[in-house]
Amino acid sequence: MGQSSQGKNIEKILSILKKEYKNWDENVATVKQMIKVHNFEPFKSLIMAIISTQTKDSITSKVSEKLFQIANSPKEILKIPDKELENTLKSVSFYKRKAKYIKDTCRIIIEEYKNKIPSNFDKLIKLPGVGRKVANVFLSHVYKKDVIAVDTHVHRISNRLKWVNTKNPNQTEKELYKVVPKRLWRDINLYLVAFGQAICSYKPKCSICPIYELCPYENKRL
Ligand code: SF4
Repeated sequence: MGQSSQGKNIEKILSILKKEYKNWDENVATVKQMIKVHNFEPFKSLIMAIISTQTKDSITSKVSEKLFQIANSPKEILKIPDKELENTLKSVSFYKRKAKYIKDTCRIIIEEYKNKIPSNFDKLIKLPGVGRKVANVFLSHVYKKDVIAVDTHVHRISNRLKWVNTKNPNQTEKELYKVVPKRLWRDINLYLVAFGQAICSYKPKCSICPIYELCPYENKRL
């Protein structure tokens, strides 16, 4: 942790969010549902991470469950006719594109990685449909690597809390590595995403916020 993290209350805020997390019933239930479907298996987790971009977790869970009933290995996914795969993914955003990403990813996993999902960031982001966020979520959840996965919630909240002052998630990721102690990197995604869904959303519910007193956001409202 560098000098720049001083005064940001990062540890204090994360420990409060960690305690509050269990009260965000709906969110916790959704996360549990996601875990039930992938059970931290690398292949299922990766496919779900691709499906999940710009899609609600509840929809991702349902659709993935359905997909894994039909096929749960790269080889089996490749056997599904394109139209059938698209139909299975139909309630997911950008389902046609994601169907193609999933098939291309499966092909690469078989041909280049002998059926094993890579645990290396640079290899992961070369897979179709896998961006920085997807790769980091995957590495942190499945291979338990110390990384910070930045999505729109993490980006928005880190800026409101003045942990960073950035214009996009990639910049946020870079800056968070400088100010967050390494042992907390994996916590950032889990707790800020849940907090963003439950309270500090696009229109924040500041009146019920457990870190109101610590929040430096100029537009916070009681
Ligand atoms: S006070 Fe409002 S803006 Fe600040 S963290 Fe809480 S919900 Fe977000």
